[in-house]
Amino acid sequence: MISLAVPDLTGNEKKYLDDCIDTTFVSSVGEYVTRFEKMVAEATGSRNAIAVSAGTTGLHVALHAAGVKHGELVMIPTFTFIASANAVRHCGADPWLLDVEASTWCLSPETVAAEIEKCCERREGGLYHRESGRKVAALMPVYTLGNIPDMTAFRAVADKYGLPLIVDAACAIGATCNGRPFGSLADLSVLSFNGNKTITCGGGGAVVGNSEEQTNLVRHLTTTARVWPDYDFDMAGFNYRMTNLQAAVGCAQMERLSSFVAVKRKAREFYETELGELTDEGITFFPATEGSSCWFSGIVLPEGGTLETAKAICSSLKEDGIEARTFWKPVHLQKPYEDCPRSKVSVAEGLWQRIVTLPCSTNISEEELSRVVASVKKAVKTIRSC
Ligand SMILES: *Cc1c(COP(=O)(O)O)cnc(C)c1O
Repeated sequence: MISLAVPDLTGNEKKYLDDCIDTTFVSSVGEYVTRFEKMVAEATGSRNAIAVSAGTTGLHVALHAAGVKHGELVMIPTFTFIASANAVRHCGADPWLLDVEASTWCLSPETVAAEIEKCCERREGGLYHRESGRKVAALMPVYTLGNIPDMTAFRAVADKYGLPLIVDAACAIGATCNGRPFGSLADLSVLSFNGNKTITCGGGGAVVGNSEEQTNLVRHLTTTARVWPDYDFDMAGFNYRMTNLQAAVGCAQMERLSSFVAVKRKAREFYETELGELTDEGITFFPATEGSSCWFSGIVLPEGGTLETAKAICSSLKEDGIEARTFWKPVHLQKPYEDCPRSKVSVAEGLWQRIVTLPCSTNISEEELSRVVASVKKAVKTIRSC
């Protein structure tokens, strides 16, 4: 069986885990947590990194630290993993759902600026969404697939309207923009180290940023807002810290970041090249911005393609011992978020049903990639003749 995305744990993972157990440092204080935070800060080009228990908890604490409050709105793309919206909801706020660009699968700064102009007004205390009467509290683009949109333009929009700029960079470790990592492009960026991400800690996440004030607040909030040495707490904090056990695995993974990302990029490239003939039938490939970390790879069916066809391709691949899957269903189509404010979402609606994600583990071999390619060609041929 060729799996969709399984971790490669053949480095120092076991050794570092043994070390945690031998030294009894298994909880949220320990040498590996500190080391992991240094490695993540360096890899993302940010001054500070705080290791947390998950991408979702990282997003929640980042939005909370940015001042997002009950009843407010956070602008996010509808085409994202549901955790982006859940983190907004955990603040008592609602997502304002916006469309993505077909060329990056990310929010576009032009769309955000246009929607603000169309739907909002400035009042004392901030920017307000006219129809719902609610305050817009933050702007949160997502680095879908490790693609980085025009962040200079996003920064300008955020500054113009006085919005904190938080990024869901959950699947973006290893991505660069103009040759540089992304850690300084937003106020706070949040990563995930869940099992299917490029780097995994089993579960885990990190919040990165350059402002000491903001990252100190995030660190404080994630550690129950405790004021040492006694049992004093100055805020209602969270218990969101990563454990030394998770960080031990993370350190071993981070040692191999560049080779993992290289394999991810190669998989995307391989599918695009070797399946190139399918473009004649309107099939395209997952988009990648310059420097993308290419978290996932796969094909996109021609316009008008259906979820049934995408699923039929997955079934056909399964018969050849290959795992393939459809991709994110947009947030506005999810039960908890049906009633949230949204703008035009036609790109996301036309896109999500046509996506087939193909195997792209960090240790996938060329022979396996070739097997996938042959199986996809076969599946497309079979479906065409039906
Ligand atoms: C994986 C992912 C998350 C959630 O991260 P967890 O660590 O699973 O909580 C959030 N947003 C996006 C875009 C993701 O891909």
